[in-house]
Amino acid sequence: MSSCGCGAAGRAGMTPPPKPCVACGRTITWRAAWAANWDEVRYCSDRCRRRKVRPVDTALETTIMTLLGARARGATICPSEAARVVDPEGWRELMEPARAAARRLVVAGSVEITQGGRVVDPSTCKGPIRIRRTGV
Ligand SMILES: [Zn+2]
Repeated sequence: MSSCGCGAAGRAGMTPPPKPCVACGRTITWRAAWAANWDEVRYCSDRCRRRKVRPVDTALETTIMTLLGARARGATICPSEAARVVDPEGWRELMEPARAAARRLVVAGSVEITQGGRVVDPSTCKGPIRIRRTGV
């Protein structure tokens, strides 16, 4: 992923391509403040840096793929379905982590996020989402 790391691209006025936050899967857009250490930037925010990817987050990813694997191709699930499987009692707490897990799976190329049947940008979409496998 890293090039030579000398920051020449920033100094030359060329903006490096955005990359995904490893925690929430949202797109991180290059900023001048990061010119010196863009290659080391992995999280979009302090919140994501603190949270990182916990075992429960990995469990949510696995559960999303398991649920989708049990459905017909093209079928969608709601993030809450995965959250309920991972924690039947405290699933409401896992709603945002479940959405983040879905975004990381989008980054990995495993799933798409849809709203109203259309694929949406997971970084910017608001409101309820559905998840389906890619390659439909
Ligand atoms: Zn993030």
